[in-house]
Amino acid sequence: MRADAIVVGSGAGGAPVAAALAESGRDVLVLESGPRLETADFNGREGEMLTRLLTTHAVNRTNQSLFAGSCVGGSTVVNDALCFRPPRRLLEDWRGKGLRLEGFEDFVELAWREVHASPTGRENTNRNAHHLEVGARKLGWRVESIPRNVRGCANLGLCNFGCPSGAKQSTLVTWLPRAERAGARVQAGRRVDRVLLESGAVRGVEVAGERIEAPLVVLAAGVLGTPPILQASGIRAGPGFQAHSSLYVSARFAERVDGFYGPTMSMGVTEFAPDFMLENVAVQPLVTATSLPGFGADHERLLRALPYLARCVVVLRDQARGHVGSQGIDYRFAGADHEAMRRALLEAVRLYLAAGAEEVFLPLQAPHAVQSVEAARALLPELIDASRMASLYAVHLFGGAPMADDPQRGVCDEAGAVFATRGLYVSDASALPSNTGVNPQITILANALRVADGLTR
Ligand SMILES: Cc1cc2nc3c(=O)[nH]c(=O)nc-3n(C[C@H](O)[C@H](O)[C@H](O)COP(=O)(O)OP(=O)(O)OC[C@H]3O[C@@H](n4cnc5c(N)ncnc54)[C@H](O)[C@@H]3O)c2cc1C
Ligand code: SF4
Repeated sequence: MRADAIVVGSGAGGAPVAAALAESGRDVLVLESGPRLETADFNGREGEMLTRLLTTHAVNRTNQSLFAGSCVGGSTVVNDALCFRPPRRLLEDWRGKGLRLEGFEDFVELAWREVHASPTGRENTNRNAHHLEVGARKLGWRVESIPRNVRGCANLGLCNFGCPSGAKQSTLVTWLPRAERAGARVQAGRRVDRVLLESGAVRGVEVAGERIEAPLVVLAAGVLGTPPILQASGIRAGPGFQAHSSLYVSARFAERVDGFYGPTMSMGVTEFAPDFMLENVAVQPLVTATSLPGFGADHERLLRALPYLARCVVVLRDQARGHVGSQGIDYRFAGADHEAMRRALLEAVRLYLAAGAEEVFLPLQAPHAVQSVEAARALLPELIDASRMASLYAVHLFGGAPMADDPQRGVCDEAGAVFATRGLYVSDASALPSNTGVNPQITILANALRVADGLTR
């Protein structure tokens, strides 16, 4: 099998590149390791959809889990549709590292338009989001409803299981159909093992022993996929891994919240950005069960209160940096991360109590319901130890093949071209030089559009 260009992965970093290359007349082959499910296949069954659409990786020797989409459309199929533009300070910081990133802001606006990122109105704000907003306003904190990339959201609350109404503008309904209309072949269930190289130039890829030839290969297998492919191909990769580590805080209210209906996420407390944000998050039974403290009867008591629970996710902008590769992920919290985590959890408790919660549950292994900030503060020594956390996780992943102005400091240049390897590019989150401090899909899409623009000029 041959193609003019192979794109590995079909999520935020891959699909825009596939569409641009196909529309420029190239014969494009998209190789995606996950299965292909269409809108009509998303049945909303939590257990089944999570298993079919997502993959989990444990960070080596810690209890932190990393989640990513593993299906045609990648993480955009399972994400919560929140849209943030990259903060100005972030782009200044990247440019301060010697990257010009010409026109990045224009590609951000293009991505914003293409995915129909639009304000989230009251009709898409559930009581779960409402409690977050009320608590923050009472405390005088900055809180805002966050734009989402949806067209006609039906409030089904199933965004993480594939949107059954087709409202969410994942790459499954945006750039991939565009690429296919322009002739691209999208093949599901095709895991790329390595890139074929000869005399410093790309010859194609290898999939389960099969050679597929192409003079141009764009890697967009995500942070958990791209660095291992590079390493298996003999290219040094893996440094600069970063995450937005996340924890859930749940709160029980006297009145029903019914936090399983409506958009999974829609409101954000930005008062403490860039250190951390608090975002409301859906109260789906399975995922909520795994993040509530305790076992047996204690756990059952909490789950019976499911309709009365509000929940938010603490999204940290980690300072730590790690390494990702075929041997797994090495990543340890830095001291500042522990401090930010403690502070964020206390502020979440403060917020829910201000909103009128009867008790708040911290994400600790042992069952701890707190009714005051002081009680939460008394648990601080436990919060120092990340291993006592229930469900420390991350879905915003970065790095492993970072862009840099020098091969000593990164894996690819700012055009996405892997140093000293003709025809090999990286266009996904692994190319970003750092974490973003905001939910990253718009930044990743913008960067992919920028890389695609360079490839089609
Ligand atoms: C549950 C969840 C919720 C999120 N919510 C939000 C949100 O609300 N807002 C936001 O901005 N961001 C959100 N994100 C993050 C955002 O979706 C991701 O950062 C973004 O999609 C990453 O883009 P990517 O191209 O790097 O990887 P992905 O979009 O994950 O795409 C990578 C693709 O490559 C495939 N792949 C991996 N290895 C191989 C291989 N060897 N061969 C072939 N294919 C391979 C994978 O199956 C996957 O389809 C969320 C993520 C998750 C998981
Ligand atoms: S809440 Fe809206 S975007 Fe999410 S799954 Fe339902 S219809 Fe789709």
